[in-house]
Amino acid sequence: MSGPSRPRLATVWLAGCSGCHMSFLDLDEELIALAARVEIVFSPVASDVKEFPEGVDVCLVEGAVANSDNLALALQLRARSRVVVAFGDCAISANVPGLRNLCLGPAGSAAAALERGYVELADLQPQHPREPGVLPELLERVLPLHEVIPVDVWLPGCPPSPARISAVLEALLRGERPRLEGPDLLRFG
Ligand code: SF4
Repeated sequence: MSGPSRPRLATVWLAGCSGCHMSFLDLDEELIALAARVEIVFSPVASDVKEFPEGVDVCLVEGAVANSDNLALALQLRARSRVVVAFGDCAISANVPGLRNLCLGPAGSAAAALERGYVELADLQPQHPREPGVLPELLERVLPLHEVIPVDVWLPGCPPSPARISAVLEALLRGERPRLEGPDLLRFG
């Protein structure tokens, strides 16, 4: 980790439901010990910092890459983080947000999803959401994180259990490669 100071931890929320971050918060009293061991420098649940900082040691990334804002943040966090963790199944495989890729139409998948959601299924005022510079553009396909940036560690689950999150963070903070072993850490569902 970086020098004598506490390791710098970031958590990022891309296209996900926030369930992985809720599971992170379910570490409960372990969070108090974690807060004493690391410096949380960027997180939607533990920090009000808006710009992803330089010199991050470990970054947990929840969610898939679905729009231009997600893409820009993914590239930035990769450039500024030593270890990037694909945090949960949406980051690993695109999972639930990836269902949007099933929308097909002559103008492409993103256009078909917008048409379906905002025009075909609208009860009132069917129209596409357009606010240049405010709303990020949808990517043509929702992508798992590893299709956009190199990923160092995979933390599966929808969401990953607090025990699994704890095991991965513990190993990383010891400077070791995480290994998920045993029924408690490998069981899914
Ligand atoms: Fe939500 Fe599951 Fe995706 Fe995590 S992996 S963001 S819990 S849908």
